[in-house]
Amino acid sequence: MTTAAAMRASLARSFTGELIGPGDEGYDTARRVENAYVDRRPALIAKARDTADVSAAVRWARDAGVHLSVAAGRHGFSGDAVNDGGLVLDVSLLRGIAIDARARTVQAGAGLTAGELTTAVYAEGFAIPFGDTGSVGIAGITLGGGIGWLVRRYGATVDQLRSVEIVTADGLVRTASPQVEPDLFWALTGGGGNFGVATAFEYALNPIGRVSHGSIVLPATREILEALVPLGLAAPEELTIMPLVGRISPRPEVAEDLVGTVAVYVELVYSGPEADAVRALAPFRSLGPVILDTVAVKPYPDVYPPGGTDPWGMASEALFIDDLDDEIAEVLVRLIGAASAAEALVQLRVFGGAFARSPDGATALGQRSRRALLWLLTPYEDLENGADYHAWTRSLRDELASKSRGTYLNFLETPDAAAVAAAYAPETLARLASIKRTYDPSNLFHPAANIEPATTERSERS
Ligand SMILES: Cc1cc2nc3c(=O)[nH]c(=O)nc-3n(C[C@H](O)[C@H](O)[C@H](O)COP(=O)(O)OP(=O)(O)OC[C@H]3O[C@@H](n4cnc5c(N)ncnc54)[C@H](O)[C@@H]3O)c2cc1C
Repeated sequence: MTTAAAMRASLARSFTGELIGPGDEGYDTARRVENAYVDRRPALIAKARDTADVSAAVRWARDAGVHLSVAAGRHGFSGDAVNDGGLVLDVSLLRGIAIDARARTVQAGAGLTAGELTTAVYAEGFAIPFGDTGSVGIAGITLGGGIGWLVRRYGATVDQLRSVEIVTADGLVRTASPQVEPDLFWALTGGGGNFGVATAFEYALNPIGRVSHGSIVLPATREILEALVPLGLAAPEELTIMPLVGRISPRPEVAEDLVGTVAVYVELVYSGPEADAVRALAPFRSLGPVILDTVAVKPYPDVYPPGGTDPWGMASEALFIDDLDDEIAEVLVRLIGAASAAEALVQLRVFGGAFARSPDGATALGQRSRRALLWLLTPYEDLENGADYHAWTRSLRDELASKSRGTYLNFLETPDAAAVAAAYAPETLARLASIKRTYDPSNLFHPAANIEPATTERSERS
């Protein structure tokens, strides 16, 4: 199978969805991913209409020996949702939502975004703990773990996962849950896109109402930065903070002499009773002179504002840390202050709460005893010089390397074998490799964060 036309003709015998190849109208849109630094040209993009289409495409790619990528929300930083010269199996048309308010569960098609599903379940008074951005696909964020605004109150996304409908490498449609195919289900709670193509997810629903959301902007002094992790951990579990260290951009409410200086934007969501919000936020407001305070009460889905459509490149790295100590604070302020990308930022995520209560090993997503995560994100418009921004972001990561206590694969632009080893505990990685050997022995599904099948069978199964 060599030419795109021959691939299309062959797949079309069993696939009823949309097929888009080079030369078709819409090809350039269909091959795009959120990270505009990625520019790949698949031979064929197959948009599945239903689970049977997914199964047909998986069998076809396996039999034809064609490189297979799986695309959902296309927000993966590595851009491995698309490839050069292979097949992209796109699940974005799988958009069903079935809410069972009495059982407090929802069945959701793998093509939905976090924002779409959040809006739908909020109408019934519920939420699922996704991330900080509504346009991210539920598929990628869930399979990678999922850390967001409700992480301290309701845990990671996978902590609320109840079952997954998935097409495995043999083309079979399975429903994995803690009761049925429990090993496969466990692998899907943080093992990424290594085990098949998820077509639907079932989540538990948790109550939510209006929330306080916004930023308290403060000077990025070492004292303030060092106080963030302890204060974030001591806060009520309904409060999650994600402070950003970045340069202040011009806006009417900010004095001109502060524009361009490094500040900390204490972004937060407080989802407890409205009457208690002022008390919960007081320790952050009294940390120092408040430059700007945008916290407002809003319906929970409004924490996800509409995303822009302009193509931006994104360099992205991440490291779990024990504390934001004075050495880290010094590196952040020095390097962010000198960054050539005006939007370069480091976001701190503070855990504890429900995230920490899930014992290590209960889900494939680990690191539950870590207190915080640093996300080094450099968005840039200047695509021609993209390599420079990626090199700069890696250099920031390298300066912080001695403080790293592991990494979070969903935030990595290059989740290579070393990163995979840094993301999982050795026993977790061994169990994932063993399950991979059972369900995908030929490594048909090889996302950038690839878990290779174990070469020998594990004697003990946990
Ligand atoms: C602006 C931005 C903000 C983000 N914020 C957060 C956050 O707050 N918290 C967080 O945890 N993460 C966050 N992320 C990271 C995000 O969770 C990951 O990039 C995730 O992989 C994106 O999922 P997707 O479906 O949109 O991406 P895609 O690029 O479509 O997919 C990414 C990966 O998932 C695999 N995959 C996709 N669909 C399927 C499927 N149906 N079956 C099997 N494998 C599949 C693909 O093979 C690929 O490896 C953010 C990313 C961006 C760009």
